[in-house]
Amino acid sequence: MKMESRLAQIGSIEEPVTGAVSFPVYQATAFRHPKLGQSTGFDYARTKSPTRKVLEEAIAVLESGDAGFACSSGMAALQTIFAYFSQGDHLIVSLDLYGGTYRLLEKIMARFGVTSTYVDTNDFDALEGAFQSNTKGILIETPTNPLMMITDLEQVCAWAKQKGIVSIVDNTLLTPFLQRPIELGADIVIHSATKYLGGHNDVLAGLIVTKGKELSEQMAFLHNSIGAVLGPQDSWLLMRGMKTLALRMERHEANATAIARYLLTHPLIDEVYYPALESHPGYAVQNKQSSGNTGIFSFKVKDARLVEPVLRHIRLIAFAESLGGVESLMTYPAVQTHADIPLEIRQKVGVDDRLLRFSVGIEHVDDLIADLGHALEQAQAELEGGGN
Ligand code: PLP
Repeated sequence: MKMESRLAQIGSIEEPVTGAVSFPVYQATAFRHPKLGQSTGFDYARTKSPTRKVLEEAIAVLESGDAGFACSSGMAALQTIFAYFSQGDHLIVSLDLYGGTYRLLEKIMARFGVTSTYVDTNDFDALEGAFQSNTKGILIETPTNPLMMITDLEQVCAWAKQKGIVSIVDNTLLTPFLQRPIELGADIVIHSATKYLGGHNDVLAGLIVTKGKELSEQMAFLHNSIGAVLGPQDSWLLMRGMKTLALRMERHEANATAIARYLLTHPLIDEVYYPALESHPGYAVQNKQSSGNTGIFSFKVKDARLVEPVLRHIRLIAFAESLGGVESLMTYPAVQTHADIPLEIRQKVGVDDRLLRFSVGIEHVDDLIADLGHALEQAQAELEGGGN
């Protein structure tokens, strides 16, 4: 079955009692046992819950994995995955990545003896240089947040396999509609489902998909033991959002491509980081391993003093800290999403005070360009007039 059909039909399984087309929210934490030693398959909601189970089975199929796990946020999903590793283990991690992931690794996992080295995961010399005898896993974001760096998943996952380490891919920005890392050799996929999968800026959730029996059993154990699971209402809301993923991603990409091209020639813009542009260094790899592009990109204004007035003058586009929803959001990574990454690392990768991240929504592209164009014009006028 094609991905579009699978998505639209999530939860529309035959419900024998009422025939309801939308899967019900089972708001229960305990399930009656038919008799001693018997179970309906559901005992206690942390371990397994009916509405969450439909979501978990759906994401496992969509990502071509063996098992899916729904968590209370993307960070909860990452924490559950990191708990697979033990004291003394070492991880290799994408140099440019979501600031919260860096914070979890450096401020929490490091205290428990799991250390990380951050490298450009597309650079094999850097990967070999970072590899240690205790390296047990690699975590890749592709495209990275916020600089949209692309990693060749097939090559890097093959390298990880040859080294005997677990490869984990954060697929938040592309979703299984556009990229399926397990088909390219990854062992684990993680999503902040708060973003494109939910798609409406109204549900916080994380998803994990594993490949292979041992990993799937271990993850089920960790998911239940840690308990950062997704509730039935949010599981339902997430499935509702996922039904329209294909349509939304197509519009996100079309809008983002048009706006990125508009900014490329804008006199106040220095650089645009978007893998749909032929000028992007990851363009060929991105085309090879995914069937389309995300709806988020970053760009640098010529002068850092333009940032504050641009954020003040956008109206339709909200100045807010997330991505992947139908509403357009603009983020200032250096002081928001990536503030926890030390300045020297941010400067090394280019997350500086001129960088803005634009999560392009599904509004009409003309309205978005008009809003951004007006904000840039106003910002320039203020700068030239000596305003703040
Ligand atoms: N991974 C990526 C790529 C993200 O952008 C985010 C959040 O922005 C997360 C993980 C964390 O997800 P959540 O905010 O749902 O906890």
